[in-house]
Amino acid sequence: MTRKHLLTYTALFVTTLLTTGLAAQVPPSEDMRLYAIAGATSAQRIGRDIAKLVSFGTRHSLSDTQSETRGIGAARRWIKAEFEAISKDCGGCLEVLTIADTVSGEKRIPEAHEIVSIIAIQRGQIDPNRMLMMSGDIDSRVTDPMNASDTSPGANDNASGMAGVIEAARVLTRYKFSASIVYMGLAGEEQGLFGGKIVAAWAKQQGWNIDAVLNNDMIGNIAGINGVIDNHSARIFSEGVRWVETEEEARKRYFTGGEVDSASRNLARYIKRVGEQYISNLDPMMVYRLDRFGRGGHHRPFNEAGFPGVRIMEVNENYDRQHQDLRVEDGRRFGDTIEFVDFDFAARLTALNAVALAGLAWAPAPPADVEIEGIVQASTTLKWTIGADENLAGYRVYWRLTTEPEWTRSRWAGKVDHYTLDNIVIDNYLFGVASVAIDGNESPVVFPGPAGAF
Ligand SMILES: [Zn+2]
Repeated sequence: MTRKHLLTYTALFVTTLLTTGLAAQVPPSEDMRLYAIAGATSAQRIGRDIAKLVSFGTRHSLSDTQSETRGIGAARRWIKAEFEAISKDCGGCLEVLTIADTVSGEKRIPEAHEIVSIIAIQRGQIDPNRMLMMSGDIDSRVTDPMNASDTSPGANDNASGMAGVIEAARVLTRYKFSASIVYMGLAGEEQGLFGGKIVAAWAKQQGWNIDAVLNNDMIGNIAGINGVIDNHSARIFSEGVRWVETEEEARKRYFTGGEVDSASRNLARYIKRVGEQYISNLDPMMVYRLDRFGRGGHHRPFNEAGFPGVRIMEVNENYDRQHQDLRVEDGRRFGDTIEFVDFDFAARLTALNAVALAGLAWAPAPPADVEIEGIVQASTTLKWTIGADENLAGYRVYWRLTTEPEWTRSRWAGKVDHYTLDNIVIDNYLFGVASVAIDGNESPVVFPGPAGAF
């Protein structure tokens, strides 16, 4: 091809792009800022913060609150001071709050006791009432859940998650987002998920529109009780059917689907996707259940309040290092001490949180009022309400086979309030729609009807 021909073809190509509007309409598929965020979490700072949390001796929820060096009071004051220091570095970009309530008459909190959580809010520029939240726990325990005095390092469970939250705040406060990001240290986890319950109720009272809770509980163990050593995978647990589903909604779901497409589940799919895209050497794995079999975590009270939320954690747990008195039995060491925490791994799982929070906070709000129709028709039509976000570029519709775990097919729909997929029969696929920002960041996919609504 001659130089003249090349120029002609180039001109023709550009003209075609301009006239069809493609260049202006389809947002980019990657955001380079997310690679920078993925590489910015520090294993060294996370290790230092875990050591600091361990240094309080015990962080049991019923432990001493007056000492400056030992007990949960000293620990939560240090966390608060740490958020305040981060805020100072970003020109006061965090609002640091203490959210507390008195609990009594409970199995693990029989006498009246104040459960105090610390949260830091980084307000969004476009939609400050839309909240993306990341949590870890302040408290720790040993064998007896009521033992508030013995040394209880809780290095992995859950100083690792708490340190991850603080580190994510350090990294993400260097940026400005459309929606708000909330960093949380929740107390009372081991006594019955009380910190999460109190904060979820408080958030509801504030009228917060919570699109995501990323709960981090044990993100630093790479040597499983089963002998597996694995520093490159992570679990994302999510509820299948919403806890708050009404009987009528359940009836609708029975006939139209949604058992594996709650907002929490599609949030999990979103986290897996951005993790695979932006983080090197990490294989996120979704687990289709609320939490480990019969066990609990602090995302649950948010799910119970109707908010989408997931648990992020290591794949291979070591039960000798969870909820154990520090001891040696027949040469076997028990206890959750810091030498068993892998800081590089914790930094990678923190990065998973950070890219997900940033992507969600730069994306527009997930589509609202998503509905679907196509019974006895050749084609399937999705409908939704157009959002008001000023960064909204348009919508992408998704579909997948009913047996596929993740969204496999998608099509750009444009800035419209409905889209028809020609000759795609509604019976054979599951469908959803995501909002897309001008910079390419997408909301999670929203499954139609109340089963999938955010
Ligand atoms: Zn625990």
